Amino acid sequence: MKITVLGSGTSQGIPIVGCKCPACTSNDPKDKRLRVSVYIETDAGNKKPLRLLIDTSPDFRQQMLVNNITDIDAVLYTHYHIDHIMGLDDIRQINQLNKKLVELYANKETALRLKQTFSYVFDEKTYKGGGIPQVNMHEINTEPFDILGVKIIPIEYLHGPTIVYGYRIGNFAYITDCNFIPVSEYVKLQGLDVLIIDALRYRKHETHFSIDEAIEVSKRIDAKQTYFTHMTHDVVHADTSKILPAGIELAYDGLIVEI
Ligand SMILES: [Zn+2]
Ligand SMILES: [Zn+2]
Ligand SMILES: [Zn+2]
Repeated sequence: MKITVLGSGTSQGIPIVGCKCPACTSNDPKDKRLRVSVYIETDAGNKKPLRLLIDTSPDFRQQMLVNNITDIDAVLYTHYHIDHIMGLDDIRQINQLNKKLVELYANKETALRLKQTFSYVFDEKTYKGGGIPQVNMHEINTEPFDILGVKIIPIEYLHGPTIVYGYRIGNFAYITDCNFIPVSEYVKLQGLDVLIIDALRYRKHETHFSIDEAIEVSKRIDAKQTYFTHMTHDVVHADTSKILPAGIELAYDGLIVEI
């Protein structure tokens, strides 16, 4: 399995327009963060690898260009916040290149909000002119499901008042936008090789893990390797990297992890 981090930044992206702070003015490419998303290519023993995208960020088009992404079989949505969905329209190019629909997977509330936000996609009759993404929505719950023979395990947790789904695929799990994981979900996160998890900033936040909270939770999950994501401009890559415990690193745009 090959995992590519397409974006590791918080909802505004880093640099933030007009900000002169150390992270926003840094020359380190690892401090340039697009909105969060990952791309997964996995071989389930089929002839063709399965290509999964987690969320369609507002930077999706740019992320496809930078990472040379030309095929996606399915999108797994975590939740309906704007920084996780607004790139959906750019699925059109995947449709055209591969002459196929893209399957979308989302929990009940996320599916509903996607249908509202992108009404033209799901109600083609009302939209005249212009291309429309060709997609097929699957409403999911916490039951594991299969895509082309690959088992996907949803992980349900809280992001303030919002229920968010993370996903476990093989020994990889992705948990963005989280400030509380119920005990029942930790069971699903045992024996991981790689975990990518939300760590917004140093100060506490009401809907995201802080760096300290993310360290505590990561130690409890105990993946062989953990990466933090969804960082704000409070986090300068080089400085924060020095203080993280062994086995925990900051993700950055373009990071490739192979399992
Ligand atoms: Zn800044
Ligand atoms: Zn969110
Ligand atoms: Zn977010």
